[in-house]
Amino acid sequence: MTPTLMTIGGRPAAALDGATFAVENPATGETIAHVPSAGAADVDAAVGAAQRAFEGEWRSWSAARRGRALVRLADLVREHAEELAQLESRNVGKPISGARWEIGAAASVFAYYGGAADKHHGATIPVEKPGLDLTLREPIGVVGLIVPWNFPLMMASWKLGPALAAGNTAILKPASWSPLTALRIGELALEAGIPAGVLNVITGPGATVGAALAAHPGVGKIAFTGETGTGQEILRAAAGTIKKVTLELGGKSPNVVFADADLEKFARESPYAVFDNAGQDCCARSRILVERSVHERVVELFTAATRAMVVGDPADERTEMGCLVSRRHRDRVAGYIAAGRAEGARLVSGGEIPTGPAWDAGAYLTPAIFDGARPGMRIVEEEIFGPVVAVIPFDDEDEAVRLANASPYGLSGSVWSRDIGRALRVAKGIRSGVISVNCNSSVHTGAPFGGMKQSGLGRELGMDALDLYTETKNIYIDLG
Ligand code: NDP
Repeated sequence: MTPTLMTIGGRPAAALDGATFAVENPATGETIAHVPSAGAADVDAAVGAAQRAFEGEWRSWSAARRGRALVRLADLVREHAEELAQLESRNVGKPISGARWEIGAAASVFAYYGGAADKHHGATIPVEKPGLDLTLREPIGVVGLIVPWNFPLMMASWKLGPALAAGNTAILKPASWSPLTALRIGELALEAGIPAGVLNVITGPGATVGAALAAHPGVGKIAFTGETGTGQEILRAAAGTIKKVTLELGGKSPNVVFADADLEKFARESPYAVFDNAGQDCCARSRILVERSVHERVVELFTAATRAMVVGDPADERTEMGCLVSRRHRDRVAGYIAAGRAEGARLVSGGEIPTGPAWDAGAYLTPAIFDGARPGMRIVEEEIFGPVVAVIPFDDEDEAVRLANASPYGLSGSVWSRDIGRALRVAKGIRSGVISVNCNSSVHTGAPFGGMKQSGLGRELGMDALDLYTETKNIYIDLG
């Protein structure tokens, strides 16, 4: 069943003015739901409900009790995994196998923060005076969680898990292209016994609903994942009431391959590091920096592995890359492929809009590999957020690090070398929040994730995230 109503104050809610918008399946062009198109008045209602819940029963729940509720939510997500995966796959065109993995990952995040809720605490501090000094970790209050469309429920879980574990109440605003699993999680949270108003879910345009949340005086923190430009707007809107802000923004991550690396392993695994989720991944290794002596060999191996990827119908169990989130976005990505060619890069493989009855209605694009790319080209400088990779050769370690860092972004990346000293020197030299060595594994539920430079502010996941959903209060007790 497709969810079609928001959850505000524990009740199913249409927009106050009754407005709705259509949600499409980008693989077929069909409308699969109509959901509420909320406005500023609905945001006021959601903030009011979240404020009342923050002052209500939830306040008296122990951390352990909040944790148990999150574990129940994790169990419910697992029980409804197939339903949620189907919603995600139909809503954003991602392969059903990948959608299933993501739903499992979201459940694991809820379970992790369920377990973490009563293990995040303050300290006693040996101050100079003879009394007792201690810190408390207190919830911020109402938090606004604004998420993108590329990994809808997973991104929501990264925010909801720590927000609720820490005792906040929340308003979740999904991207307009992908609202369905967010609407469903609002219902499942109630079923898990989380009190009414603790989690509110609101759908509607970012420029209206998202902006109203970011500026609302009743909201204490905004946690946002999305484009760097939107992140800048949110910072400006949040400045009015000095909100806490966490931002997970764009990336242009390097995949650095030295001649002494296991090139076969690199080539086998790395197509997935950029073409998984059709390249709509903030961690996508969209620049391959390769040592010149193995440049041709790496392009050959990587291209062969990419051509073996199964691109097609997201509903097919064998599909490894589905379609993009919309035809509009697909056409924007195709514009980058035209720009790469015009700027003189060599298109080695893919980059085509496939045609025929199986493809015409969907937002498909085959994975594109550009060789002969150079700094200054748009395909090297800009986040494309689609299945496009640019290969750039380098001569030595210093140049590899310089090229890797020649970006305003600093989110993720990989280093491949059998020389552990060099791998670690390069990993330390790259200015990004997460780096993997001899693999492309950026995300671990228990480890901090986030970006340096214009890739973001703060960290998600792990115990670090809990710090950012709490205020620290210091108490000094005179023992005299
Ligand atoms: P957007 O920034 O366009 O949208 C993200 C969310 O913000 C959506 O819910 C959107 O709503 C909302 N929004 C839009 N405008 C505003 C506004 N003025 N004020 C408040 N909220 C607003 O990003 P995309 O959805 O296009 O997502 C892709 C981007 O996300 C990429 O740049 C990618 O790198 C980044 N990303 C970063 C990750 C990370 O962890 N660093 C992870 C995943 C993605 P609506 O949909 O209604 O417009």
